[in-house]
Amino acid sequence: MIAEAIHSVRERIERAEKSVGRTDSVLLLAVSKNHPVEAIEAAVANGIVAVGENRVQEAKAKIEAYQGPDVEWHLIGHLQINKVRQAVPLFDLIHSVDSEKLMREIDRIANREGKVQRILLQVNVAREESKSGVSVEEFPALVELAKTLENIEVQGIMCMAPFVDNVEEVRPVFRIASYLYEDMKNKFPDGQIQFLSMGMSHDFEVAIQEGANIVRVGTDIFGQRDYGCL
Ligand SMILES: *Cc1c(COP(=O)(O)O)cnc(C)c1O
Repeated sequence: MIAEAIHSVRERIERAEKSVGRTDSVLLLAVSKNHPVEAIEAAVANGIVAVGENRVQEAKAKIEAYQGPDVEWHLIGHLQINKVRQAVPLFDLIHSVDSEKLMREIDRIANREGKVQRILLQVNVAREESKSGVSVEEFPALVELAKTLENIEVQGIMCMAPFVDNVEEVRPVFRIASYLYEDMKNKFPDGQIQFLSMGMSHDFEVAIQEGANIVRVGTDIFGQRDYGCL
């Protein structure tokens, strides 16, 4: 089941890349929130090398229970200030950094942990009130701050598009994120800005066509999430 699902997602990724003549690689981040650790182990057995979780508590339990080959753990959900202490030791990449306060706290804790925390800046391009992310206006200030902090390394941008039936409608959102990402590359040492995380199960093809190189896919790998048990 999961083998076929991953295979089919990979085929869609490849088709999307080909459609715009891209030859670089896209990281398929398997989003396992609300799915058990066994599902993660099965995904890794089928070639998944990076796993995305939304909540620190849930991720911590799964990371501790996980038995399998080394895999990268990414935090993609909103991070509260008071969870940073728990989050920093757990995650290889935090996608959801969206305020100066949060960035400073991650830097402080990472310093204490003797770690340089890799992060992405989450930009709320579409200005959705229900979503976290820094506004396009406040984004440059966050970029400037990132340059000054020694225990974080900012590596790019994460963006979520509004959920709509016709995915073509969100293409402009992805395109703006892509502009911000390309512009950001000039502000940091060569190669540091390397990840544009955008696209989920229903819209990752469009995101890839607009330049995404991390896609965060849950449903189309693991199936529908059961929120009833929360
Ligand atoms: C849940 C989630 C995803 C995956 O969504 P699917 O539609 O299940 O693929 C991606 N990104 C974020 C931030 C999420 O919370």
